[in-house]
Amino acid sequence: MSTQYERLAAMNTSHLWHPFTQMKDYNNAAPLIIERGEGILLYDVQGKAYYDGFSSVWLNVHGHNVPELNQAIVDQLGRVAHSTLLGMANIPAIELAEKLVEIAPQGLAKVFYSDSGATGVEIALKMAFQYWHNQGAKKKTTFITMNQAYHGDTIGAVSVGAIPLYHDVFRPMLFPSHTIPYPYAYRHEGGALAAKEATLTALRNLLEARADEIAALIVEPIVQGASGIIVMPQGCLSEMAALCREHDVLLIADEVATGFGRTGAMFACDLEDVSPDLMVIGKGLTGGYLPVAATLATNAVYEAFYADYHEQKTFFHGHSYTGNPLGCAVALASLKLFDERNILEGVKRKASYVENKLAALKERPHVGDIRQQGLMFGIELVRDKATREPYDWAERIGVRTSLRARELGMLTRPLGNVIVFIPPLVSTEAELEAMIHILRDSIIHVTEGRDS
Ligand code: PMP
Repeated sequence: MSTQYERLAAMNTSHLWHPFTQMKDYNNAAPLIIERGEGILLYDVQGKAYYDGFSSVWLNVHGHNVPELNQAIVDQLGRVAHSTLLGMANIPAIELAEKLVEIAPQGLAKVFYSDSGATGVEIALKMAFQYWHNQGAKKKTTFITMNQAYHGDTIGAVSVGAIPLYHDVFRPMLFPSHTIPYPYAYRHEGGALAAKEATLTALRNLLEARADEIAALIVEPIVQGASGIIVMPQGCLSEMAALCREHDVLLIADEVATGFGRTGAMFACDLEDVSPDLMVIGKGLTGGYLPVAATLATNAVYEAFYADYHEQKTFFHGHSYTGNPLGCAVALASLKLFDERNILEGVKRKASYVENKLAALKERPHVGDIRQQGLMFGIELVRDKATREPYDWAERIGVRTSLRARELGMLTRPLGNVIVFIPPLVSTEAELEAMIHILRDSIIHVTEGRDS
């Protein structure tokens, strides 16, 4: 008699193709199969508990199985589960749009729903493109992105993506974009200030030469996530925003990863008082519960589409699940918990708690850099700390460290040689301490070859 686990594992191998996964690798190891979650713990089908140390891919805000969020979905289920926004509206979609405009950076006034971060990015790109087209600026068709940027996996999002490992294979099918350097202080010879200057100079030069061809700059504000949790030097984002404004180029803030409290502010743009023309949100919008994303636009963008039908300025874009009422209902419930539980204050307090606790890790021989913004941490492991020589990619130091953490009871997913620590925002200090312990033990085990 096979166990339930064995049956599921066999079916998983037979039928599932996992995202961002080399299946030959994956099928060599026993799969982790999750059965349920409670608070910040996930339990596998064999009953073992794991801390959700990467917030189930960076989207867990209030934990798993949260009564208030469950109830919001149940209540809405009793009314209607699907209602398209093509030709009609629904109550949660309207109420959520109002709430989002209230909490968004100043100037954002309209909400266009979609169902994933990537589709939200597609919408922002198409809106920016058509915004200029509708006003007769038909040459403004290209985008500026940043080195190592990640904006999702659909074709437009990949076109403004700049991570060679993920994106290069698709290059022949993509539209070309301009790329400026991202300020990666740890790996820039002159450090943070020089890195920032290099970014601003490149942007200024590009805008001075070609602003008449450029529709928008798309940026992961303050923290570039998938490239390795790389935090911008202070003031960089606001100066980039000012340059865009000065040269009549739209600013698209991709807040999919950074939005909803993750960086210590509701949105990363708030940290530098930046008001983008378009802002993409997803992930934490529903507390991570359901696939809802949105693209927020200013009135100026919206008005460029507002015309008599025959003028052909309509934004012809929409998805079947746009404005799904179950998703919007749980997003509203999540935002209510933000207020009731003072989540943002909690993030600030916990961020400095973790920072202090992680400080000792900096002394370890293979910990090159510890980066942080709010409750978003990246720990870059290096072969040689003095020269900052990275580990060879083939050594899979990040994967091995994450696997060790899993053995010790915490889940995380590395970015190359960077260990990611993105705990749910509601993690308690005791839970954070337990997770930091596992992180430390895993790093020492893998990089120093011994148990601490
Ligand atoms: N933009 C950023 C900055 C992201 O980090 C991600 C996902 N990690 C996306 C877009 C894509 O979101 P989704 O996976 O929901 O399509």
